[in-house]
Amino acid sequence: MANFDTHLIHKGDGQFAKALNKTASVAETLPIYLSSAFAFDDVQSVDDIYENRANGYIYSRAANPNIDAVSEILAAIENGAGALVFGSGMAAITTTILSLVKSGDNILASRLLYGGTYDFFAHELPKFGVTVTFADIENGGIDEYIKENTKLVYTETIANPLMSVPNIRKIAENTHKHGLLLLIDNTFASPVIAKPLDLGADIVLHSATKYLGGHSDILLGAAVAKTGELAKQIRRTEGIYGGVASPQDAWLLARSLRTLSLRVKKHSQNALKVAEFLEGHGKIEKVFYSGLSSSPSHENAVSQFEPNLFGGMISANIKGGAAEKFIGKVELFPFLPSLAGTSTTLSYSVKTSHRYYEKEKREELGITDEQVRFSIGLEDADDIIAEFESALKDL
Ligand SMILES: *Cc1c(COP(=O)(O)O)cnc(C)c1O
Repeated sequence: MANFDTHLIHKGDGQFAKALNKTASVAETLPIYLSSAFAFDDVQSVDDIYENRANGYIYSRAANPNIDAVSEILAAIENGAGALVFGSGMAAITTTILSLVKSGDNILASRLLYGGTYDFFAHELPKFGVTVTFADIENGGIDEYIKENTKLVYTETIANPLMSVPNIRKIAENTHKHGLLLLIDNTFASPVIAKPLDLGADIVLHSATKYLGGHSDILLGAAVAKTGELAKQIRRTEGIYGGVASPQDAWLLARSLRTLSLRVKKHSQNALKVAEFLEGHGKIEKVFYSGLSSSPSHENAVSQFEPNLFGGMISANIKGGAAEKFIGKVELFPFLPSLAGTSTTLSYSVKTSHRYYEKEKREELGITDEQVRFSIGLEDADDIIAEFESALKDL
């Protein structure tokens, strides 16, 4: 062979990677496998891979080296038996739930949830004949809400946006007493602060878009299961619904995870200082942060979190209906509907993450027009405080 256009197609193709496998050194970091499919030596090989007689990849919706590599990290840091990576946090949540329920089943969920999860539970699952009971389960009392058809219990380690911390150990104990599964969204805490599987949960979910990614440049999700069997069940459903991650994003996530401890500790240390500053400020009505001893969640946080780490997320009510004005006065930090990047950012839950909660429901929970949500970044704490002090002064 060897004419011009054929060279363009076949020189340096996947066979080059095969030759690399036989060299005496290895890349220090894992290369990105941007390949939708994998080529076999012969028909026998494809049969061996499908029948688990040989290791090998087939098609990247089913499995890809970069996704497997990042799964290995996630399973290890959450103390799970297996992890799955998805194209977004919502893909992780919806696919995992759909892998566990069928028509006629019921879910018991915390009344305080990320807005997208609430939307899925309240407005999508009923279309499939799955009902969801929303209840105050923070203190672990779930017995009165369990029905004959309840299959699982769902909550968040640090609930958005009021930063309340449920008693996971007690919820887990009661969930298992009924023979049900406990799923926990650990996005706001990250495994640096809390490991829900160690506290008794069966599956941990993440929007890896947030602290795991940490640089505001990827959209990814993850599910980590306590048992290999559960991981396998979720993996099968993921392959069918197809909400998988791109290998390039998975690679970026693996890169970001190398600094997870350093980042989350600094986010958390800065947030504690900012929360203390806000609590002492005359124009602030109320601060929601479990690191403050005044917080109703302080005891649960101290007993379940790593020492002195309470996360980088704070909410605060600004006095005199000045929340919107305050957001406008902050110049250094962007106002946007996400969190957990390197920069401090502000969000306004009633207009963003909790937009689709009915207004009466929001107010009943305490998610109000006065409330600003802070994602505290990696800047110098003194500079973050100075910026807020100056914005509050002008109100
Ligand atoms: C952002 C977020 C999600 C959804 O994740 P995406 O990556 O945006 O799909 C789920 N749970 C929590 C707590 C979140 O903050």
